[in-house]
Amino acid sequence: MSSDATSAPATASAPPKRNEKKQSWPDAKGRFGPYGGRYVPETLIPALDELTAGWKSLKRDRAFQKEFQGLLANFIGRPTPLTFATRLSQRLGRKIWLKREDLCHTGAHKINNALGQVLLARNLRKTRIIAETGAGQHGVATATACALIGLKCRIYMGTEDMRRQAPNVFRMRLLGAEVIGIDAGSKTLKDAINEALRDWVANVRDTHYCLGTVYGPHPFPVMVRDFQSVIGREARKQILAAEGRLPNALLACVGGGSNAMGLFHAFVKDAGVRLIGVEAGGNGNDFGQHAARFDGGRPGVFQGTATWVLQNTDGQVQNTHSVSAGLDYAAVGPEHAWLRDQGRAEFLRCSDAEALAGFHLLAEAEAIIPALESSHAIGKLAEVAASLPTDGVLIANISGRGDKDVAEIARLEGLKL
Ligand SMILES: *Cc1c(COP(=O)(O)O)cnc(C)c1O
Repeated sequence: MSSDATSAPATASAPPKRNEKKQSWPDAKGRFGPYGGRYVPETLIPALDELTAGWKSLKRDRAFQKEFQGLLANFIGRPTPLTFATRLSQRLGRKIWLKREDLCHTGAHKINNALGQVLLARNLRKTRIIAETGAGQHGVATATACALIGLKCRIYMGTEDMRRQAPNVFRMRLLGAEVIGIDAGSKTLKDAINEALRDWVANVRDTHYCLGTVYGPHPFPVMVRDFQSVIGREARKQILAAEGRLPNALLACVGGGSNAMGLFHAFVKDAGVRLIGVEAGGNGNDFGQHAARFDGGRPGVFQGTATWVLQNTDGQVQNTHSVSAGLDYAAVGPEHAWLRDQGRAEFLRCSDAEALAGFHLLAEAEAIIPALESSHAIGKLAEVAASLPTDGVLIANISGRGDKDVAEIARLEGLKL
């Protein structure tokens, strides 16, 4: 294997094959095949309609795009690099490239979407932003975007999550956000989402609900995908410049699915590029031990959308577990379910132990400390690489940096910080 990030581009081969039949656009009701839609109280439909119309027109608005693109470049620091993983490529015998969302301001891809939505909300004359957060990453991203644009910000968070993620609670407050603890249910993400939806129903005239992933009622799954699709647009250009060809596969972890959809979207029509998502395999196969929706769930409706859900035979949504808080959710974005039905995307599960091994591997081999979420993609890297042709090229998404996780790693491995 001889290639590095600075080598001259290889000669371009035949133009990449594109399969125009694979649609990646929801219908007028926001449905991706049987998935998606709007399973919300009647009172929210006007707000969702207003949001859909507002975003459709601003998407093509030159001034809006100019402001957004400017902030992506000069505030978030885009484009993020595509880094050649020299040692991993040597070890695995395939060319491995890393898309570096860990280098975004605030340390993960979530800011791409949060900033896009907060700008959109300001243009729709909303004066108040609400959001929910589990690990706190989306809360920090939303609080950051609100501080930058100058809008009031309230973040709902389960009290159990607030305890586990105290530094992120502190960050949000430093950025001027109000953090409201939710003491109901399991005191985690799904309880915070319920509370945020209640707030939105009551305050829909002046308030925008900034949802953090490709989930929830239409237009959120497609709108968040659009804001995150900058990841794949950059990666496609970067890999064509570096290798003169498209990759054989893309690899990304899947919580709600926004970093994965963000990377995949620009490649969906490229039939030769495998799209591989990695779910949290946790520490067992029983309900409550993992968050592998495609491996232990089935189709259902949860928190505004139709998709694959971890539920029992009575339709009761089940508790989940993952070593990484960002992947610890009982349902998955509807577009992923649809791409999977069409055979376009594949999904693997990565256990807690495999993810921890991936975390150390990337730190030691490539000098990058990844988020525990991103470590799930690295945990499957060897297996996926082995399934590619011997001249194969792969892009793995490093969705975030691991600073937020070092205390948890130390605790899990009995080490002192
Ligand atoms: C939140 C988060 C995820 C999971 O969310 P997706 O919507 O699936 O991308 C993954 N990685 C990091 C670093 C996160 O903060």
